[in-house]
Amino acid sequence: MGVFDKVKNLLNKNEKKINTALDKDQVSISSNLNKQIIASGIEKTKSSFFGKIARTVAGKSTIDESDLDDIEEILITSDIGVDTTLKIINKLEERVAKDKYINTSELNNLLKEEILSLMHDFNESNINVNEPYVIMVVGVNGVGKTTTIGKLANYYKNQGKKVVLGAADTFRAAAVDQLVLWSERVGVEIIKQDMGSDPASVAFDTIQSAKSNDADVVIIDTAGRLHNNVNLMRELSKIRNVMGKVIKEAPHDVMLVLDASTGQNAIEQAKQFTQATKVDSIALTKLDGTAKGGVVIGISDQFKIPVKYIGVGEGIDDLHNFNKKEFVDSLFN
Ligand code: GDP
Ligand code: GDP
Ligand code: MG
Repeated sequence: MGVFDKVKNLLNKNEKKINTALDKDQVSISSNLNKQIIASGIEKTKSSFFGKIARTVAGKSTIDESDLDDIEEILITSDIGVDTTLKIINKLEERVAKDKYINTSELNNLLKEEILSLMHDFNESNINVNEPYVIMVVGVNGVGKTTTIGKLANYYKNQGKKVVLGAADTFRAAAVDQLVLWSERVGVEIIKQDMGSDPASVAFDTIQSAKSNDADVVIIDTAGRLHNNVNLMRELSKIRNVMGKVIKEAPHDVMLVLDASTGQNAIEQAKQFTQATKVDSIALTKLDGTAKGGVVIGISDQFKIPVKYIGVGEGIDDLHNFNKKEFVDSLFN
């Protein structure tokens, strides 16, 4: 290679890094975000939540103290969770005590405001632009880890990113096959070993390959595990530590996947996992087809961890960046 080519390569490489840096500043899926799709994805939650509220306040021109008990029950049965519901009800009580009563449209506005103020927004930071960005996906069985990885890989690929998947769920042969299918569907590279091999070793290989091939994003699948299985939780730490041997900061994002349709169980899993291991972000799946979408509000309020993505279907495009305002707007409009 001549000097000229070397310089050209170097420039190209730098340009790539700079572009990556720019893109990575806005890893949000907002470009992909379609309010209508989200609205239809949470249709069941919406109709159940507001159906109940509407029935409670039907025929009333004002809401008073006695209605608040009913509203409290509705919030709790919408899977918002007890702690978060109490915060909302306290605010409503304050307001009713002050104004003596509020009308039903004020009630809606108040609910919306309070819910919005309790939820945390996602603020991406700490992305090292010089090395592959490593996402390690964890959670219990069947919550949608592998599917979410497929969708995420597709999203990044469409953004022009070089994506590598790591099949570190070596527990079942079918798990590797499932991720292979996604990699073919999306058209991204996958690193795998035989079933039963050491997941830490798969993770190591994946990150090493991603690094030497100058990939932008690495997504590591892991076997479903329960927080109370000490050995499996220890295995997670081992996988994490091995990654750090190749890229010091890896994994940059330990993403906990939770199934929204399990309602309070999802909140419980979030509690247990965050106590047992490092969790940087949450993806909430299966919001379509469940009336328990209020769980997003509870999780967003109770954990200092951002809900980054929501899944609203099994399709490749059914993953959206979570934005609290979009979500609450979809819920209330
Ligand atoms: P894993 O065991 O955590 O890897 O879960 P999988 O990715 O294998 O998903 C388990 C099942 O949930 C599969 O049938 C998926 O198609 C389905 N699934 C995943 N995400 C969603 C979602 O957002 N909506 C719906 N309706 N189904 C989903
Ligand atoms: P150990 O297996 O208990 O000694 O734990 P380690 O943290 O040393 O490694 C965990 C796994 O990651 C190992 O079993 C290897 O499969 C893999 N691993 C760690 N370091 C390397 C390495 O330098 N090269 C390769 N290929 N794999 C490694
Ligand atoms: Mg899986």
